[in-house]
Amino acid sequence: MICRFAPSPNGFLHLGHAYSALMNARLARAHGGLLLLRIEDIDRERSKPEFEQAMREDLAWLGLDWPRPERRQSEFFDAYRALLEKLLARGLAYPCFCTRGAIAAKVVADGARDPDGSPLYPGSCRDMSPGLRAQKIAAGEKFAVRLDMARALAEIDRPLSYREFYEGETPQGMAARPELWGDALIGRRDIPASYHLACVHDDSAQGVTDVMRGADLEAATGLHVLLQALLGLPTPDYRHHRLVLDEDGKKLAKSKGSTSLQALRDAGVTSEGVRAMLGERMGTRF
Ligand code: GLU
Repeated sequence: MICRFAPSPNGFLHLGHAYSALMNARLARAHGGLLLLRIEDIDRERSKPEFEQAMREDLAWLGLDWPRPERRQSEFFDAYRALLEKLLARGLAYPCFCTRGAIAAKVVADGARDPDGSPLYPGSCRDMSPGLRAQKIAAGEKFAVRLDMARALAEIDRPLSYREFYEGETPQGMAARPELWGDALIGRRDIPASYHLACVHDDSAQGVTDVMRGADLEAATGLHVLLQALLGLPTPDYRHHRLVLDEDGKKLAKSKGSTSLQALRDAGVTSEGVRAMLGERMGTRF
């Protein structure tokens, strides 16, 4: 069994990350497997070396170990770009020249949203004439890459599914629902990948057999399974764990400044203390 913990170095890790990392470590240990650390730093603006360093320190402090060197996604842009080019060449993806503002202006306020709550892309660039497309590209206009969901589904032409283990050892067959994402973004304007594309590429490149991550990423799995089918990559088994919530029942987030592991450590909390705290809140023994 090969598991991975894949944080983004865009803030300090908090209790939710500790829970996810410990759950992964526990799963790998129980199966005599391996836990890999993957640094998901495709966002060059938000990722910072100091967060990456802090992440490593926090995980070591928690008592985790992993093979070095870790995979850093920013070192694999060429590989992601090659996938985008393949999907574009197969007519399963298209360049999207819309700015965020242009998309927001087009979608009606109560329009359909993807599972992350973002408005579904209205498809404005999908049917652009090849001539106009070529003209824009030649003029150096920047573009993102979107999956043509209807064509991608037609290409696969069979129901897609994956195995999910809900807090146990009995897998459940799950129907993948990639269509909920509409024409999903697979390459960003400034980066030749999106989280979804880099994630499925790397899970396969690293031989990951079991993906364990937070329940907030469960809906993304359907899209990942479709990308795997389109790219001829294996589909790992999935486990989506419950999220650690704050006192108000809200999801912890780096962006909200949720108490970081560093702050807990500075306040004198030990790594055993963090394990005990999580054990108590989540009903899991580490
Ligand atoms: N990098 C993602 C995050 O920090 C995790 C992605 C995953 O586990 O698939 O939320």
